[in-house]
Amino acid sequence: MKYNIALVPGDGIGPEVVEAAVKVLEVTGEKFGHEFCFTKYLAGGAAYDACGEPLPQETIDGCLAADSVLFGSVGGPKWDGVPREKRPEQAVLGLRKALGLYTNLRPAKIEPALADACVLRPDIAAKGFDLMIVRELTGGIYFGERGRNEAGDAAYDTESYSVAEIERVARRGFEAARKRKGHLTSIDKSNVLETSRLWRETVHRLGESEYTDVRLDDMLVDNAAMQLIRDPSFFDVVLTSNMFGDILSDEASQVTGSIGLLASASLGDSASGLYEPIHGSAPDIAGKDIANPIATILSAAMMLRYSFDLGEEADYIEKAVSDVLSDGWRTADIKSPDAEEWLSGSQMRDKILEYMK
Ligand code: NAD
Repeated sequence: MKYNIALVPGDGIGPEVVEAAVKVLEVTGEKFGHEFCFTKYLAGGAAYDACGEPLPQETIDGCLAADSVLFGSVGGPKWDGVPREKRPEQAVLGLRKALGLYTNLRPAKIEPALADACVLRPDIAAKGFDLMIVRELTGGIYFGERGRNEAGDAAYDTESYSVAEIERVARRGFEAARKRKGHLTSIDKSNVLETSRLWRETVHRLGESEYTDVRLDDMLVDNAAMQLIRDPSFFDVVLTSNMFGDILSDEASQVTGSIGLLASASLGDSASGLYEPIHGSAPDIAGKDIANPIATILSAAMMLRYSFDLGEEADYIEKAVSDVLSDGWRTADIKSPDAEEWLSGSQMRDKILEYMK
Protein backbone atom coordinates (compact mmCIF):
# COMPACT_ATOMS: atom_id res chain seq x y z
CA MET A 1 0.00 0.00 0.00
CA LYS A 2 1.18 3.53 -0.78
CA TYR A 3 0.95 6.43 1.70
CA ASN A 4 1.72 10.08 0.93
CA ILE A 5 3.24 11.85 3.90
CA ALA A 6 3.75 15.63 4.06
CA LEU A 7 6.93 16.51 5.95
CA VAL A 8 7.08 19.87 7.68
CA PRO A 9 10.51 19.91 9.38
CA GLY A 10 10.37 23.59 10.46
CA ASP A 11 13.23 25.19 12.38
CA GLY A 12 16.01 24.45 14.86
CA ILE A 13 16.26 20.71 15.56
CA GLY A 14 13.07 20.06 13.54
CA PRO A 15 14.88 19.00 10.32
CA GLU A 16 17.31 16.71 12.24
CA VAL A 17 14.61 14.80 14.11
CA VAL A 18 12.23 14.57 11.13
CA GLU A 19 15.03 13.14 9.01
CA ALA A 20 15.61 10.43 11.62
CA ALA A 21 11.90 9.54 11.65
CA VAL A 22 11.85 9.34 7.83
CA LYS A 23 14.67 6.75 7.93
CA VAL A 24 12.72 4.70 10.49
CA LEU A 25 9.57 4.86 8.33
CA GLU A 26 11.53 3.81 5.23
CA VAL A 27 12.92 0.74 6.99
CA THR A 28 9.44 -0.10 8.33
CA GLY A 29 7.99 0.27 4.84
CA GLU A 30 10.59 -2.10 3.38
CA LYS A 31 9.99 -4.70 6.07
CA PHE A 32 6.18 -4.69 5.83
CA GLY A 33 5.81 -3.97 2.10
CA HIS A 34 4.44 -0.41 2.24
CA GLU A 35 5.54 2.53 0.16
CA PHE A 36 5.87 5.78 2.10
CA CYS A 37 6.26 8.79 -0.23
CA PHE A 38 7.50 12.01 1.34
CA THR A 39 7.04 15.61 0.20
CA LYS A 40 8.71 18.41 2.15
CA TYR A 41 7.00 21.75 2.92
CA LEU A 42 8.23 24.92 4.58
CA ALA A 43 6.74 26.30 7.79
CA GLY A 44 7.75 28.55 10.67
CA GLY A 45 10.83 30.73 10.53
CA ALA A 46 12.20 28.84 7.52
CA ALA A 47 9.05 29.73 5.57
CA TYR A 48 9.09 33.32 6.82
CA ASP A 49 12.67 33.71 5.58
CA ALA A 50 11.81 32.18 2.20
CA CYS A 51 8.53 33.95 1.44
CA GLY A 52 7.53 36.27 4.31
CA GLU A 53 4.78 33.94 5.66
CA PRO A 54 5.12 31.35 8.49
CA LEU A 55 2.52 29.11 6.84
CA PRO A 56 2.51 29.46 3.04
CA GLN A 57 -0.61 28.37 1.13
CA GLU A 58 1.47 25.75 -0.66
CA THR A 59 2.18 24.09 2.71
CA ILE A 60 -1.51 24.12 3.68
CA ASP A 61 -2.53 22.67 0.30
CA GLY A 62 0.19 20.01 0.44
CA CYS A 63 -0.79 18.95 3.97
CA LEU A 64 -4.49 18.84 3.05
CA ALA A 65 -3.74 16.65 0.04
CA ALA A 66 -1.43 14.25 1.93
CA ASP A 67 -2.53 11.11 3.81
CA SER A 68 -0.90 12.51 6.94
CA VAL A 69 1.55 15.14 8.18
CA LEU A 70 4.79 14.74 10.13
CA PHE A 71 5.78 18.02 11.76
CA GLY A 72 9.11 18.91 13.43
CA SER A 73 9.05 22.14 15.40
CA VAL A 74 9.08 25.85 14.67
CA GLY A 75 10.45 29.03 16.20
CA GLY A 76 13.66 30.46 17.55
CA PRO A 77 15.23 33.73 18.72
CA LYS A 78 16.06 34.71 15.13
CA TRP A 79 12.38 35.56 14.62
CA ASP A 80 11.72 37.24 17.98
CA GLY A 81 11.31 40.62 16.29
CA VAL A 82 8.79 39.66 13.59
CA PRO A 83 5.16 40.86 13.94
CA ARG A 84 2.91 38.61 16.04
CA GLU A 85 0.79 37.33 13.14
CA LYS A 86 3.95 36.31 11.24
CA ARG A 87 5.62 34.53 14.18
CA PRO A 88 6.82 31.00 13.33
CA GLU A 89 4.58 29.49 16.06
CA GLN A 90 1.51 30.66 14.09
CA ALA A 91 2.27 27.84 11.66
CA VAL A 92 1.22 25.11 14.13
CA LEU A 93 -2.03 26.84 15.08
CA GLY A 94 -2.77 27.65 11.43
CA LEU A 95 -2.17 24.07 10.30
CA ARG A 96 -4.35 22.62 13.07
CA LYS A 97 -7.14 24.97 12.02
CA ALA A 98 -6.74 24.34 8.29
CA LEU A 99 -6.81 20.57 8.84
CA GLY A 100 -9.82 20.75 11.21
CA LEU A 101 -7.99 18.98 14.05
CA TYR A 102 -10.08 18.94 17.25
CA THR A 103 -8.43 16.17 19.27
CA ASN A 104 -4.94 16.03 20.69
CA LEU A 105 -3.39 12.72 21.72
CA ARG A 106 -0.44 12.90 24.09
CA PRO A 107 1.11 9.71 25.38
CA ALA A 108 3.24 9.94 28.52
CA LYS A 109 5.25 6.86 29.25
CA ILE A 110 8.07 5.89 31.50
CA GLU A 111 10.01 2.74 30.90
CA PRO A 112 11.18 1.04 34.09
CA ALA A 113 14.73 1.34 32.61
CA LEU A 114 14.38 5.13 32.64
CA ALA A 115 12.95 5.42 36.12
CA ASP A 116 15.94 7.51 37.18
CA ALA A 117 14.80 10.33 34.82
CA CYS A 118 11.34 10.38 36.40
CA VAL A 119 10.64 13.05 38.98
CA LEU A 120 8.39 10.77 41.07
CA ARG A 121 9.32 8.86 44.21
CA PRO A 122 11.51 5.89 43.17
CA ASP A 123 8.99 3.23 44.27
CA ILE A 124 6.26 4.87 42.12
CA ALA A 125 8.58 5.40 39.13
CA ALA A 126 9.79 1.80 39.34
CA LYS A 127 6.26 0.56 38.56
CA GLY A 128 6.46 2.41 35.21
CA PHE A 129 3.41 3.91 33.49
CA ASP A 130 2.03 4.26 30.00
CA LEU A 131 -0.93 6.59 29.57
CA MET A 132 -2.43 8.71 26.82
CA ILE A 133 -4.21 12.01 27.29
CA VAL A 134 -6.98 12.64 24.74
CA ARG A 135 -7.72 16.36 24.88
CA GLU A 136 -10.44 18.36 23.16
CA LEU A 137 -8.62 21.06 21.19
CA THR A 138 -10.98 23.58 19.63
CA GLY A 139 -13.76 24.23 22.18
CA GLY A 140 -14.34 25.07 25.83
CA ILE A 141 -13.20 28.11 27.75
CA TYR A 142 -10.26 28.95 25.45
CA PHE A 143 -12.71 29.65 22.62
CA GLY A 144 -15.77 30.84 24.59
CA GLU A 145 -17.14 34.36 24.94
CA ARG A 146 -14.93 36.58 27.08
CA GLY A 147 -14.73 40.19 28.11
CA ARG A 148 -14.42 42.87 30.77
CA ASN A 149 -16.94 45.23 32.30
CA GLU A 150 -16.91 48.91 31.38
CA ALA A 151 -14.76 49.88 34.33
CA GLY A 152 -12.28 47.16 33.40
CA ASP A 153 -12.17 45.87 36.98
CA ALA A 154 -13.98 42.58 36.32
CA ALA A 155 -13.56 39.98 33.57
CA TYR A 156 -15.19 36.73 32.47
CA ASP A 157 -14.44 33.72 30.25
CA THR A 158 -17.12 31.22 29.27
CA GLU A 159 -16.85 27.44 29.18
CA SER A 160 -19.31 25.97 26.69
CA TYR A 161 -19.58 22.52 25.08
CA SER A 162 -22.26 20.99 22.86
CA VAL A 163 -23.16 17.29 22.88
CA ALA A 164 -21.75 17.03 19.34
CA GLU A 165 -18.39 18.49 20.41
CA ILE A 166 -18.16 16.14 23.38
CA GLU A 167 -19.23 13.09 21.37
CA ARG A 168 -16.64 13.54 18.63
CA VAL A 169 -13.67 13.81 21.02
CA ALA A 170 -15.08 11.06 23.26
CA ARG A 171 -15.22 8.74 20.24
CA ARG A 172 -11.51 9.39 19.70
CA GLY A 173 -10.93 8.54 23.36
CA PHE A 174 -12.89 5.27 23.21
CA GLU A 175 -11.17 4.30 19.97
CA ALA A 176 -7.74 5.02 21.44
CA ALA A 177 -8.66 2.86 24.46
CA ARG A 178 -9.64 0.03 22.10
CA LYS A 179 -6.17 0.20 20.50
CA ARG A 180 -4.53 0.17 23.96
CA LYS A 181 -5.58 -1.53 27.22
CA GLY A 182 -9.32 -0.84 26.91
CA HIS A 183 -9.63 1.54 29.89
CA LEU A 184 -10.93 5.12 29.57
CA THR A 185 -10.98 7.62 32.44
CA SER A 186 -13.08 10.69 31.71
CA ILE A 187 -12.04 13.81 33.59
CA ASP A 188 -14.49 16.52 34.65
CA LYS A 189 -15.52 18.83 37.45
CA SER A 190 -19.13 17.66 37.55
CA ASN A 191 -19.49 18.48 41.25
CA VAL A 192 -19.39 22.18 40.25
CA LEU A 193 -19.66 22.82 36.50
CA GLU A 194 -22.74 22.30 34.30
CA THR A 195 -20.56 21.72 31.21
CA SER A 196 -18.89 18.90 33.14
CA ARG A 197 -22.28 17.34 33.95
CA LEU A 198 -23.16 17.38 30.24
CA TRP A 199 -19.68 16.00 29.50
CA ARG A 200 -20.15 13.09 31.92
CA GLU A 201 -23.72 12.27 30.72
CA THR A 202 -22.64 12.32 27.07
CA VAL A 203 -19.54 10.18 27.57
CA HIS A 204 -21.56 7.59 29.52
CA ARG A 205 -24.36 7.49 26.96
CA LEU A 206 -21.82 6.86 24.21
CA GLY A 207 -19.96 4.26 26.26
CA GLU A 208 -23.14 2.34 27.10
CA SER A 209 -24.45 2.40 23.53
CA GLU A 210 -21.33 1.95 21.38
CA TYR A 211 -18.27 1.06 23.44
CA THR A 212 -19.35 -1.54 25.97
CA ASP A 213 -16.01 -3.30 25.47
CA VAL A 214 -14.16 -0.30 26.97
CA ARG A 215 -13.99 0.04 30.79
CA LEU A 216 -15.15 3.58 31.55
CA ASP A 217 -14.67 5.49 34.79
CA ASP A 218 -14.79 9.15 35.81
CA MET A 219 -12.46 11.24 37.89
CA LEU A 220 -12.71 14.82 39.11
CA VAL A 221 -9.91 16.96 37.67
CA ASP A 222 -8.43 17.85 41.06
CA ASN A 223 -8.19 14.18 41.96
CA ALA A 224 -6.70 13.40 38.51
CA ALA A 225 -3.94 15.97 39.09
CA MET A 226 -3.10 14.15 42.34
CA GLN A 227 -3.36 10.61 40.94
CA LEU A 228 -0.97 11.46 38.08
CA ILE A 229 1.66 11.89 40.78
CA ARG A 230 0.48 9.27 43.32
CA ASP A 231 -0.20 6.39 40.94
CA PRO A 232 0.08 7.18 37.21
CA SER A 233 0.05 3.44 36.46
CA PHE A 234 -3.73 3.52 37.15
CA PHE A 235 -4.38 5.33 33.86
CA ASP A 236 -4.62 4.04 30.30
CA VAL A 237 -6.53 6.65 28.26
CA VAL A 238 -7.50 9.95 29.92
CA LEU A 239 -10.29 11.92 28.18
CA THR A 240 -10.44 15.65 28.94
CA SER A 241 -11.80 19.02 27.89
CA ASN A 242 -9.49 21.62 26.41
CA MET A 243 -8.39 23.45 29.57
CA PHE A 244 -8.15 20.42 31.86
CA GLY A 245 -6.19 18.60 29.13
CA ASP A 246 -3.81 21.51 28.67
CA ILE A 247 -2.84 21.35 32.32
CA LEU A 248 -2.89 17.57 32.83
CA SER A 249 -0.93 16.80 29.65
CA ASP A 250 1.90 19.12 30.70
CA GLU A 251 1.85 17.62 34.18
CA ALA A 252 1.99 14.09 32.76
CA SER A 253 4.89 14.90 30.43
CA GLN A 254 6.90 16.64 33.14
CA VAL A 255 6.39 13.61 35.37
CA THR A 256 8.28 11.45 32.85
CA GLY A 257 11.24 13.85 33.03
CA SER A 258 12.24 13.36 29.39
CA ILE A 259 10.91 15.89 26.89
CA GLY A 260 12.94 14.30 24.08
CA LEU A 261 10.89 11.08 24.28
CA LEU A 262 7.32 12.36 24.06
CA ALA A 263 5.20 12.19 20.91
CA SER A 264 1.83 13.71 20.04
CA ALA A 265 -0.91 13.60 17.44
CA SER A 266 -3.71 15.98 16.50
CA LEU A 267 -6.70 14.41 14.78
CA GLY A 268 -9.94 15.55 13.14
CA ASP A 269 -12.72 13.78 11.26
CA SER A 270 -10.58 12.35 8.48
CA ALA A 271 -7.98 9.62 8.87
CA SER A 272 -5.25 12.18 8.31
CA GLY A 273 -3.57 13.88 11.27
CA LEU A 274 -0.69 16.05 12.39
CA TYR A 275 2.05 14.17 14.23
CA GLU A 276 4.79 16.01 16.11
CA PRO A 277 7.14 15.74 19.09
CA ILE A 278 5.95 17.76 22.10
CA HIS A 279 9.26 19.58 22.33
CA GLY A 280 10.07 22.84 20.55
CA SER A 281 12.85 23.72 18.13
CA ALA A 282 15.55 23.72 20.86
CA PRO A 283 17.69 26.45 19.23
CA ASP A 284 20.32 25.95 21.95
CA ILE A 285 21.28 22.54 20.51
CA ALA A 286 20.25 22.86 16.84
CA GLY A 287 22.87 21.70 14.33
CA LYS A 288 25.05 20.07 17.02
CA ASP A 289 23.77 16.50 16.54
CA ILE A 290 22.68 16.35 20.17
CA ALA A 291 18.88 16.33 19.75
CA ASN A 292 17.15 13.14 20.79
CA PRO A 293 15.12 11.92 17.77
CA ILE A 294 12.94 9.49 19.77
CA ALA A 295 9.94 11.83 20.29
CA THR A 296 9.64 12.31 16.53
CA ILE A 297 10.23 8.63 15.77
CA LEU A 298 7.44 7.74 18.21
CA SER A 299 5.23 10.41 16.58
CA ALA A 300 5.78 8.60 13.27
CA ALA A 301 4.75 5.33 14.97
CA MET A 302 1.57 7.05 16.17
CA MET A 303 0.89 8.08 12.58
CA LEU A 304 1.05 4.45 11.48
CA ARG A 305 -1.32 3.40 14.28
CA TYR A 306 -3.87 6.24 14.21
CA SER A 307 -3.91 7.44 10.59
CA PHE A 308 -3.03 4.29 8.65
CA ASP A 309 -4.31 1.63 11.07
CA LEU A 310 -0.94 -0.14 10.91
CA GLY A 311 -0.78 -1.29 14.53
CA GLU A 312 1.75 -4.06 13.97
CA GLU A 313 4.14 -1.68 12.23
CA ALA A 314 3.74 0.88 15.05
CA ASP A 315 4.45 -1.85 17.64
CA TYR A 316 7.58 -2.77 15.71
CA ILE A 317 8.99 0.78 15.93
CA GLU A 318 7.95 1.23 19.56
CA LYS A 319 9.55 -2.08 20.52
CA ALA A 320 12.85 -1.12 18.86
CA VAL A 321 12.88 2.17 20.81
CA SER A 322 11.97 0.44 24.04
CA ASP A 323 14.66 -2.25 23.58
CA VAL A 324 17.32 0.37 22.82
CA LEU A 325 16.43 2.18 26.05
CA SER A 326 16.21 -1.03 28.08
CA ASP A 327 19.71 -1.97 26.90
CA GLY A 328 20.97 1.29 28.37
CA TRP A 329 21.57 3.40 25.26
CA ARG A 330 21.10 7.10 26.04
CA THR A 331 21.35 10.52 24.40
CA ALA A 332 22.65 13.51 26.37
CA ASP A 333 19.18 14.60 27.57
CA ILE A 334 18.36 11.26 29.23
CA LYS A 335 21.75 10.06 30.42
CA SER A 336 22.43 9.81 34.11
CA PRO A 337 24.45 12.77 35.43
CA ASP A 338 27.59 10.71 36.06
CA ALA A 339 27.57 8.87 32.67
CA GLU A 340 30.75 9.44 30.70
CA GLU A 341 29.52 8.28 27.31
CA TRP A 342 26.30 8.76 25.40
CA LEU A 343 25.00 8.73 21.84
CA SER A 344 24.66 11.70 19.50
CA GLY A 345 21.28 12.22 17.82
CA SER A 346 22.37 10.44 14.62
CA GLN A 347 23.93 7.58 16.61
CA MET A 348 20.63 7.09 18.49
CA ARG A 349 18.80 7.03 15.13
CA ASP A 350 21.25 4.42 13.81
CA LYS A 351 20.98 2.37 17.01
CA ILE A 352 17.19 2.22 16.61
CA LEU A 353 17.57 1.24 12.93
CA GLU A 354 20.00 -1.51 14.00
CA TYR A 355 17.44 -2.88 16.52
CA MET A 356 14.81 -2.87 13.75
CA LYS A 357 16.75 -5.34 11.63
P1 NAD B 1 12.15 23.47 23.67
O1 NAD B 1 11.26 22.28 23.83
O2 NAD B 1 12.59 23.78 22.29
O3 NAD B 1 13.48 23.27 24.58
C1 NAD B 1 13.43 23.15 26.01
C2 NAD B 1 14.70 22.44 26.48
O4 NAD B 1 14.63 21.07 26.13
C3 NAD B 1 15.97 22.98 25.82
O5 NAD B 1 17.03 22.95 26.76
C4 NAD B 1 16.27 22.00 24.70
O6 NAD B 1 17.63 21.90 24.38
C5 NAD B 1 15.74 20.70 25.29
N1 NAD B 1 15.21 19.81 24.25
C6 NAD B 1 14.05 19.97 23.54
N2 NAD B 1 13.91 18.98 22.66
C7 NAD B 1 14.98 18.16 22.81
C8 NAD B 1 15.39 16.96 22.18
N3 NAD B 1 14.68 16.37 21.19
N4 NAD B 1 16.54 16.41 22.57
C9 NAD B 1 17.29 16.95 23.57
N5 NAD B 1 16.94 18.08 24.20
C10 NAD B 1 15.80 18.69 23.83
O7 NAD B 1 11.38 24.69 24.32
P2 NAD B 1 11.75 26.24 24.36
O8 NAD B 1 13.22 26.40 24.54
O9 NAD B 1 10.82 26.84 25.32
O10 NAD B 1 11.35 26.78 22.91
C11 NAD B 1 12.26 26.96 21.82
C12 NAD B 1 11.47 27.40 20.61
O11 NAD B 1 10.57 26.35 20.23
C13 NAD B 1 10.60 28.64 20.87
O12 NAD B 1 10.69 29.46 19.72
C14 NAD B 1 9.21 28.07 21.04
O13 NAD B 1 8.21 28.98 20.68
C15 NAD B 1 9.26 26.90 20.07
N6 NAD B 1 8.27 25.84 20.35
C16 NAD B 1 7.70 25.27 19.25
C17 NAD B 1 6.81 24.23 19.42
C18 NAD B 1 6.21 23.60 18.18
O14 NAD B 1 6.75 23.78 17.10
N7 NAD B 1 5.12 22.86 18.30
C19 NAD B 1 6.51 23.75 20.70
C20 NAD B 1 7.14 24.33 21.79
C21 NAD B 1 8.04 25.39 21.61
